[in-house]
Amino acid sequence: MPCHCVRWTLLTIETDGRLTQMSMEPLEEQIVSCPYCGETIEVFVDHQEVGDEYIEDCQVCCRPIIFNVELDSMGNLTVRARDENEVY
Ligand SMILES: [Zn+2]
Repeated sequence: MPCHCVRWTLLTIETDGRLTQMSMEPLEEQIVSCPYCGETIEVFVDHQEVGDEYIEDCQVCCRPIIFNVELDSMGNLTVRARDENEVY
């Protein structure tokens, strides 16, 4: 049975009229919970961020959450949230 899947590519038009393909990794949505107040937070990460650590204030309790972007043993993106006092 032939495959009818269409592979979409995102194209952007440069100022000189050329079409270039955007190399865009799809963002993956991850749900983490605030280490302080337990509020669930949606974060969006892509594979280029693996190994990164960034800090974002909780929208609810306004305390700084440290996010670590990692790959699990299955190769899936995971985000770990910890508080600033936790020893990594
Ligand atoms: Zn919080």
